[in-house]
Amino acid sequence: MPAVTVEQAVDVARRVFGIEGSAKPLESERDRNFRISAMDGSFTLKFANPAEGPGVLSMQAAALEHLARVAPELPVPRNNLTVHGAAVAEYEVNGETLPVRMLTYLPGETLANGGSSPGLRRSIASTLGELGRALRGFFHPAAGRVLLWDLSHLERLRPRVADVESGQRDVIEHWLDRFERFVSPSLPRLRGQVIHNDFNPDNLLADPADPNRVGGIIDFGDMTHAPLIVDLAVAIAYQLHNNDDPADVFAEMVGSYHQALALESAELDVLPDLVAARLVQSLVIGAWRAKHHPDNVEYILSDSGTTWATLQRLSSLRIDNLVSAAQRACFMPTPASAPRTDLGRLLERRRTRLGEGMRLSYDVPLHAVAAEGVWLVDADDVRHLDAYNNVPHVGHSHPAVTAAIARQSAVLNTNTRYLVESVLEYADRLTSLLPDGLDVAVFANSGSEANDLAWRMARTVTGNDGFIVTDRAYHGSTYLTINTSPEELGIENLQPWVATIPAPDHRRMSKPEIDRAVARLHSHAYRPAAVAFDTIFSSDGIFEAPLGFLSTAAEEVRAAGGLFIADEIQAGFGRVGERMWGFAKHDVVPDIVTLGKPMGNGHPIAAVVTTSEIAAKFSRAGYFFSTFAGNPVSTAAAGAVLDVMAAEGLPIKADRVGSYMRSGLVRLAHKHAVISSVRGLGMFIGVELSHNDIPGATAARYVMNEMRNRRVLIGRTGPHGNVLKIRPPLAFDESHADLLLSTLDEVLTSMSARDRTND
Ligand code: PMP
Repeated sequence: MPAVTVEQAVDVARRVFGIEGSAKPLESERDRNFRISAMDGSFTLKFANPAEGPGVLSMQAAALEHLARVAPELPVPRNNLTVHGAAVAEYEVNGETLPVRMLTYLPGETLANGGSSPGLRRSIASTLGELGRALRGFFHPAAGRVLLWDLSHLERLRPRVADVESGQRDVIEHWLDRFERFVSPSLPRLRGQVIHNDFNPDNLLADPADPNRVGGIIDFGDMTHAPLIVDLAVAIAYQLHNNDDPADVFAEMVGSYHQALALESAELDVLPDLVAARLVQSLVIGAWRAKHHPDNVEYILSDSGTTWATLQRLSSLRIDNLVSAAQRACFMPTPASAPRTDLGRLLERRRTRLGEGMRLSYDVPLHAVAAEGVWLVDADDVRHLDAYNNVPHVGHSHPAVTAAIARQSAVLNTNTRYLVESVLEYADRLTSLLPDGLDVAVFANSGSEANDLAWRMARTVTGNDGFIVTDRAYHGSTYLTINTSPEELGIENLQPWVATIPAPDHRRMSKPEIDRAVARLHSHAYRPAAVAFDTIFSSDGIFEAPLGFLSTAAEEVRAAGGLFIADEIQAGFGRVGERMWGFAKHDVVPDIVTLGKPMGNGHPIAAVVTTSEIAAKFSRAGYFFSTFAGNPVSTAAAGAVLDVMAAEGLPIKADRVGSYMRSGLVRLAHKHAVISSVRGLGMFIGVELSHNDIPGATAARYVMNEMRNRRVLIGRTGPHGNVLKIRPPLAFDESHADLLLSTLDEVLTSMSARDRTND
C-alpha cells in the first residue's frame, strides 16, 4: 500500500483536482484512500497501488463513466476529473509515481459490518443483476487481463492446494475435480462480458435509510471479462456465510437477479459448482498469501474459518437440489404456470378416454409437463433425471431440433410423391453412415412400420416365409412384427413360421441354436426368410453379443436361403458408442438395417436401409407407400439430430460416459450383493438383480419405483423383469451419472435395511 500523508492528500486534492478540503484516511486493503470533505461535498481520493497498472485504472474510470451514462440510477461513485479533465492523474510522492483518482464519496456502512437477511440478499442480487445489465455493452482491453481471482481459471490454483491445511485438502480437491470435469468444459459456451467479480459485503454499502437495501457499490478493482454467471456465484458465496438454509439463499438471490437480468438454464446448471469454486478460491489464495506474508497472517486468514465451514456445509448438500431451487425461483422451464391437476382424476380420465390397454410407468405415475436436456419436469415443477428415454437422443427439446422442425414446417411439408431435395440429402447422409452396399433408404413412421416393411422385403426377395428371432425379442406391433415378438406374445403362442434362439447370454454361440431353429422351421415346412436381431438384445435382458455370434447366425441363415436383418431401432445412432451401430463391431454387413426411435429425437421417423439389389427386387414384386413417411419436416428433424451428434461428439461421449457409469455400477455391485451382473455397451446398460430371499423381479420393481420417487427415471427388462434398464438421452454426462449412482446406492441401502427389518 503506498505511503501518503494527510497533508499530501490535501495538497493533491487542491492542486490536481481543484478541491479544497480536509482529508481523513479510509481503510483499504490495496490502495491508500482518503475521504476529502469540502464545501461542495465529500470525495474519495484514491492513490492506487503502483502494481495495479494503468490499464486497470483506466478501465475502472471508463466503467464508471459508462454506468453514469447508461444506468444513472445505480448507486456507484462518479469520476471527479482533474483540473485538466482527466479521470486518472499521476502524483509523485517520496520519489514514487502513484496513479491517483478522485470519486464522489458514497455514504453508508459497509455490509460487512451488518448481518444478512432475505431482504438484503434480494437487494444485493437485484443490484448485481442491474449492474450486469448496464455493463453488457461495456468493453475495455484491460478486461482481458489474467487475474488470480478469475473463477474461469480456477484450475491454476491446483498446485497451491498444498499450502492449505491438510484436513481441508480432500474437500478442495473434490471441488476442483468437479470443476475440471463439469464446469470448465461448459464455461466457454456461456455468455461472457465485463463483470464486477467481487460483490462481497466489504465492497457494498447499506442504504443509510434502509439497512436491507444496497446503497452503494464501492470497489471495481476486480473487474474482468468472464462468464456473467460468475458474478452471481461470487455474490452468493459470501451470503452463504450464515445459518440460513443454502437452498433458500440460492432461491432468493437467483430469483431476484433473474428479475433484473434473465438467467439461462445452462448458467443455473453450473451455479452451485461456481459458488463452491469461489469458496475454494478464497481458501487456497488465502493460505498461499498467508505463507508468503507471515507478518500479516491474522488479517489474511481472518475469514478462512467461516469460509471453510460454508464449504463443508455446501459439500453435504445435493447439487441437483440447489439447481432445482434456483430453477424454481426463475420459473424455469415454465411449467409452474401450468394448472395443477389432481393425479387421481387425470388417471381416471386417461383410463376412460384412452382405454384400459395403455400402460403407465411406475407405481406413482409421472405427470410430465416439460422436459429439457436430461430432465423431465412434473406438474409440481420438480425435475427428474431421465436415465430411461432413448428417443430424445440428443436431449429433450434440443433447440437445434425444435428449430429445424419449425423452420421446415414453415416452408414445405408434403408426402414423398414429389421431388424434395432436402429429403434426398438426408438419405445421402444416412446411408453414408452405414457400410458400403447399404445404399437405399426407405422411410417409415415407426419402428414397427420399418420392421414390417423389412420383413415383407425379406419374404418377397427370398421367397421364404419363416423368421428366426430371440426368445424374448420385441420387433413391433403390426400383425407381422408382433408375431415375431415373443416378449409380447409369449413364446408358447408363436406361429409355426417363427422359431427362436436364446439371446447371447453367457457367451453362448449361435451356430447350433440357429441350425436347430432352421430345422424347426423345416419341420413345419417353412424356410427362413430372415434372422432378425435387436443388436443390443434389449428385451432379452440387454446383452453384448460375443464376436462371431452375429456373423455365424447370418452365415447359417444365408446358407438356408434367408437374410440377416439388424434391428437397430434400440441400439443405433451412436447409443452403443463411436461405432454407431450394434452390429458394427461384428464382422458382418446386414442385408437390411432398420432404424427408428432416436432418429428424429421424438419426431416420428424410421427407416429401412438395404442394398440396391434387394430394393429393386422388392419393388418389382411389392409396393410401399406411407403418407407421412419421409416427409421433409421429419427428415429435417432427423438431419438436425445428426448435426447435433457430430457437433457435440455424442457417440464418443456415449462410450466415455457409459464406461464411467458401468465402473460406478461395478463398484456398487461390490457393495450390494443383490447386483449380480452389470452389462451393456455405450449408453445402453443392464444391471441384473438377483437376491437370496426376494425374487429379482420384486427387487428390480422396488428399485425402479424408489428411484422414481427420488427423481431418477430408469426402467426394467429381461425375461424375469429383474434387469434394470439404464438408457438415457446422450446429453447425459458424468455429473448425471454420479447422481444416478448415488441415488441407486441410497435405494439399494434402503432395500437391505428393509429386508433386515422384515427378518
Ligand atoms: N424394434 C425394437 C428392437 C424395439 O425396441 C421397438 C420398440 N420398442 C420396435 C422395434 C418398434 O418400434 P415402434 O415402437 O417405434 O413401433
